[in-house]
Amino acid sequence: MTQPMDDTPLEWLALARGTLDRAAQHRRDPAWTAAAWKDPRARVVVVRDGQALVTFEPEPRLVLVPAARAPEGDPWLLGVDETGTPYFGIAGDLPAVDGAEAAGLRRVGALLPDRDSGLLTEAVSLEHWHGTHAFCPRCGAPTEVTAAGHVRVCPRDGSEHHPRMDPAVIMLVRDDADRVLLARGPQWPADRRSILAGFVEPGESLEQAVAREVHEEVGLRVRDVRYLGSQPWPLPQSLMLGFFARADDPSALRPDAEEIVDAAWYTRDGLAAEIGDGRLVAPGPLSIAAQLIMRWYGGPLPGMPAF
Ligand SMILES: [Zn+2]
Repeated sequence: MTQPMDDTPLEWLALARGTLDRAAQHRRDPAWTAAAWKDPRARVVVVRDGQALVTFEPEPRLVLVPAARAPEGDPWLLGVDETGTPYFGIAGDLPAVDGAEAAGLRRVGALLPDRDSGLLTEAVSLEHWHGTHAFCPRCGAPTEVTAAGHVRVCPRDGSEHHPRMDPAVIMLVRDDADRVLLARGPQWPADRRSILAGFVEPGESLEQAVAREVHEEVGLRVRDVRYLGSQPWPLPQSLMLGFFARADDPSALRPDAEEIVDAAWYTRDGLAAEIGDGRLVAPGPLSIAAQLIMRWYGGPLPGMPAF
């Protein structure tokens, strides 16, 4: 008999924990943003190549500097906390801070407290977007930063350009025996396995993307596509949308050999045994893949801390 799927929303996602009010209503108010930048409480996260300063003792924390210590540049308003303290991001050389190390989301995204994880996720996203959108896609003129760092405008034709992200579906496929499909991409280490994922194409719904990607990568037809949650994945600019789906016929499994070189069905006991003896490495807690697998598994995987 087919077991019902627990498709209630995922509760904890490492990069979806931001706590600030983004204060978007102030972005086009230069007087407000200038006053916020001069506010002695204002704090700035400086980002360079996807990394910011972090201190690890007594526990991981993002290093935030007063605006006066931030490098020159165009600051981005990241948000305001419940006390009214404004937070900004800026691209530039990381300041010298005793005991701090440069770290990116892969290392600290799951370790930082909620506010800091949200700040770093937003700042890294904006740094990448600004760094790759210096020119107008219509006419090629250099664009200028406006709206407190959330819009770029072309001075020649007046067109406005907003931060881009690429939607990607990631789906845990189960069969009627409640086994999970795990697969390996060609560039991955030999012991690494995860669930399937792929980018949404133009003119396609999320549900269509799930069905297409699964069929392309492993030959299976799926039904009962259910959305469980999302998180930004600015590595460099994706938004991951997580799903469960059920395979019609698990025996139809045929890895395409290009995007997927190896795929197999796992029971809970089988997965635990392979992780336990080191034959299989599952995704880390930063990823929505890990959260989807743990939802299916019924708790933390062997050797993985419960987040
Ligand atoms: Zn232009």
